[in-house]
Amino acid sequence: MTRLPDPALVVLVGASGSGKSTWAAERYRSEEVVSSDALRGIVGSGPHDLDASDDAFDLLERVVDARLGRGLTTVVDTLGTDDVRRVRWREAAREAGLPAVAVVLDTPDAECRRRNAGRDRPVPAAVLTAQLRRHALLRASLAGEGWDLVHVVGGDSGLDEPAARSEPAAAPDDERRTSQGLRVVLQVSRFPWGEEPAAWLAGVARAADEAGFAGLALMDHLIQIPQVDRAWEPIPEPWVSLGLLAGLGTRLSLGTLVTPVTFRPAGITAKAAATLDVLSGGRAFVGIGAGWWEREHAAYGLAFPRAGERLDALEAAIETMRALWGPGTKAYDGDRVRLPETTSYPRPVGRIPVIVGGGGEKRTLRIAARLADGINVPSDLDTFDRKIEVLHAHCRDVGRDPAAVAVTVLDLPVVGRDRDDTWARVERLRGRTPAAAFARRTHAGTAAEQRDRYGALAARGVDTVFLGIGDLAGPEDVLALRPLLT
Ligand code: GDP
Ligand code: MG
Repeated sequence: MTRLPDPALVVLVGASGSGKSTWAAERYRSEEVVSSDALRGIVGSGPHDLDASDDAFDLLERVVDARLGRGLTTVVDTLGTDDVRRVRWREAAREAGLPAVAVVLDTPDAECRRRNAGRDRPVPAAVLTAQLRRHALLRASLAGEGWDLVHVVGGDSGLDEPAARSEPAAAPDDERRTSQGLRVVLQVSRFPWGEEPAAWLAGVARAADEAGFAGLALMDHLIQIPQVDRAWEPIPEPWVSLGLLAGLGTRLSLGTLVTPVTFRPAGITAKAAATLDVLSGGRAFVGIGAGWWEREHAAYGLAFPRAGERLDALEAAIETMRALWGPGTKAYDGDRVRLPETTSYPRPVGRIPVIVGGGGEKRTLRIAARLADGINVPSDLDTFDRKIEVLHAHCRDVGRDPAAVAVTVLDLPVVGRDRDDTWARVERLRGRTPAAAFARRTHAGTAAEQRDRYGALAARGVDTVFLGIGDLAGPEDVLALRPLLT
């Protein structure tokens, strides 16, 4: 299925009855479509009031300029035959930095005539014939006009399905990889659980399991962070919460993303994770980072040393955990850590993966290259490529096979059921950020659209996507993510 660039200027080109308005309505929100017919109906007596054309087109141009100026998708629904206007719209798009797409409706002439004849107010037959002739000529020259893309909606090709279509659900395999080869783990950062905390948590986890997620990760903060919600919203202690989830009998991997090394002595984290691993039948993982938010440390009476010391602590924490998870009780003498004995029971069922969070290029990525089973970086492709390059350079430096460090990303998109729902969410969540910028940053779109993006991540060697939903309200929102998991 073709996915057109978005946001974009989309100019429809086709005769009356070719299906322009129908095509647009199936793919875009009504607010995104600016139609000369509709505007005739607003400034004139109806869509066919030709006396109102000048006023309608004046308005149309202003709407196009205003929307493109804000970086918003604009679908221009006219016959598309006015050469001067097409140039103007393309230039306006260029100026706004948006791609300009021509969508050509190549409906067979006979079909346009048939549909036209069936309308309440048909275009006179001679007028339609002239339109069809004009369309045939224009069709040939359009490719040379400078569009970023000319998309042809073929008369009977049947290739062009509406974008909102959801894909059939298929159960992921035992490893819980999607057909794109990814593990997708639900990252939960907000807990709008009302009066039923345990039921809410269990409901979300069961939905994640049912939808086909490979795991569930909890954020670890002491105060809800401003990026997610207000400071007085609940943010539970993750290891206690994961203990509850361990007892549900799902197949989800369970862990933190990420636990700051500053919160608990490393040995205590090792104990919590080992306990989680045995209670869950070997499903625990530990996402760990250096910590960053001074406020929560101060509020809870925790030290917040400078970055260099926190990174030392991160390195030491991984050593300590590994030492305490290893077999036997012998003394440990490592690079940063010395323990007189390593008596620690229960021992984990298997190897607990340690995923280092953070993209600090000098130290964090080096620590990951040396010690981690995985690295967690943002999903944004520009910075992603750079981080992975640096990680692999560190791997070569320390003599570790880059393939030994699984690449994971944290992905925080806005996901809507359809285009209308997506943009309603953007509007609700964007705060003071302009809508177009917020939508771009959050890759706002349907689950099927996110899946296309995940294909690009998989192609870059990503192993696991931690998917966080900013407005996760409950199990229904988790189930709606299914198309991403097939
Ligand atoms: P426009 O004049 O190019 O905007 O065409 P419309 O989108 O208004 O469509 C004209 C008529 O054709 C309407 O009655 C539509 O319901 C119908 N129509 C549009 N697209 C299709 C299509 O893909 N298949 C069929 N069977 N009818 C369509
Ligand atoms: Mg129309």
